[in-house]
Amino acid sequence: MHQEFQLILTPEEAASEELFRKKVAEKAELNITRISLIRILRKSIDARSALPKINIGVEVFWDEKPPEKYEVHAGYTFTGNKPPVIVVGAGPAGLFAAMKLLTLGLKPILIDRGKDARTRKQDIAQLNRNKEINPESNYCFGEGGAGTFSDGKLYTRSKKKGNVQQILETFYFHGANENILYEAHPHIGSDNLPLIVENMRKTIISHGGEVHFGKKLTELLIEDDRIKGCRTEDGSVFEADALILATGHSAHDVFGMLHRQGIELESKGFAMGVRVEHSQELIDSIQYHSRKRNKFLPSAAYSLVEQVNGRGVYSFCMCPGGHIVPAGTSPESIVVNGMSASKRNSPYANSGIVVEIQPEDVPAEFQQYGVLAGLKFQQYVETLAYRNNGGKGFAAPAQRLNDFVKGRLSADLPDCSYLPGIISSPLHFWLPEIISSRLKEAFVKFDRKMRGYLTNDAVILGVESRSSSPLRIPRDPESLQHIRIKGLFPSGEGSGYSGGITSSAIDGENSALKVAEYFKGINN
Ligand SMILES: Cc1cc2nc3c(=O)[nH]c(=O)nc-3n(C[C@H](O)[C@H](O)[C@H](O)COP(=O)(O)OP(=O)(O)OC[C@H]3O[C@@H](n4cnc5c(N)ncnc54)[C@H](O)[C@@H]3O)c2cc1C
Repeated sequence: MHQEFQLILTPEEAASEELFRKKVAEKAELNITRISLIRILRKSIDARSALPKINIGVEVFWDEKPPEKYEVHAGYTFTGNKPPVIVVGAGPAGLFAAMKLLTLGLKPILIDRGKDARTRKQDIAQLNRNKEINPESNYCFGEGGAGTFSDGKLYTRSKKKGNVQQILETFYFHGANENILYEAHPHIGSDNLPLIVENMRKTIISHGGEVHFGKKLTELLIEDDRIKGCRTEDGSVFEADALILATGHSAHDVFGMLHRQGIELESKGFAMGVRVEHSQELIDSIQYHSRKRNKFLPSAAYSLVEQVNGRGVYSFCMCPGGHIVPAGTSPESIVVNGMSASKRNSPYANSGIVVEIQPEDVPAEFQQYGVLAGLKFQQYVETLAYRNNGGKGFAAPAQRLNDFVKGRLSADLPDCSYLPGIISSPLHFWLPEIISSRLKEAFVKFDRKMRGYLTNDAVILGVESRSSSPLRIPRDPESLQHIRIKGLFPSGEGSGYSGGITSSAIDGENSALKVAEYFKGINN
């Protein structure tokens, strides 16, 4: 027999296996020994009052053999002898596209410019030691894409609930903790992601697919407006009637390649700003309304948004208990982003704070680049950050938060999680006015929502420039193919139609489904 119900528990009751079982038994009016399985369906924190509560939806089974705790129907089939589909980019969009192809009887040939996740770790360690950057293997490029050494937050604004659950189940199937299936804000953590993406690669290979690292796409092979394959920098040629292009929005060279090949692109709105870091203790005290966080509660997160002068200014990829990381892809630019390990236990809380930029906001001197204007402006701001770091490699230019708002250079800087180091710099002075003026006003407004947020103990680092793509590769909304080139399926964040791990993964799966429909069409 089984029954579903809702419990409201204290953080301690929710954290202790024993207390939790007791509460479930009490609510179900059962002797605890009769319970054969408790399946958590939903879990969220209500921190509106000084005594936070945990809301948990459970399904309890008793007096019978229970089902599997969490069932996943992966449905992968062997595709070694099936029609090939090239997938370029092993980020969330490409990986999930490749795995979906396995369920559709199509053979994925997945190629990526970077290295496998394990080898990639060594290049990332070099970068964090403020040594050189490998332009092909860094926080953005390589197995798992920008998702591997990311924060691994899996929540999305996507309303397609069924699709989201399928993505979470695939992560779980490949080794993620079961809690991602029911937490309101699922999070994997950068310590667990590399192994999970490696397991995904094993699934692809064991089901007849191919995975090639160190293969940088440099040319699409097109005949009569139809995809025939692609060429990589080392001269290799891959042939197929369909190609899923999932190279992410950091692959600026891919946008250049498409432009050179005369393939239509469109400019779109994007966002740039800074990453702000507070002590986690301060954020906990604001969000949990108490001086000290209850030890059974997780590090607190926040989400902020304001309109300033007709444009949105908002927090992006907030990482409680996390670290700021160098997320650029080329030597003479500084890009920052954030990540956290599964326990979220560093003493720092960081978040991107970015300003919406519409194509018409891009300064006049960049408009000569036409559709690439936003991309050139983004590159310029990343280079500005590099020029303002005192020539210290990947050290980030930084300023105390209140000094930034008041327009003062910081005489010194607080401790910061960013490993390559930070250098005091007047960001208020050199950041483009359309960004700095809005950021200043937004920080004042944020402080009204979170009292104590605007403090000189917090520090901002430049620049957070890769939160979204300044370009879109236009595609037909029904077939998801490029508007002109048949068999070309732009997918994921680089296509301009998704943002974040989960929505990119969903987009990748959808592209695979549309490839299967396309193959049916050309074979009939
Ligand atoms: C530090 C950090 C933290 C983040 N934290 C989160 C988070 O917590 N939650 C969240 O939802 N999102 C987060 N993101 C964003 C998230 O990682 C991206 O939105 C997501 O990875 C986009 O997926 P994608 O597959 O479209 O592209 P990408 O992940 O960018 O993958 C693109 C892939 O294409 C490959 N590639 C590029 N060019 C070529 C080429 N020419 N030839 C062959 N291969 C190529 C790259 O090597 C890469 O593997 C974070 C990003 C970073 C950098």
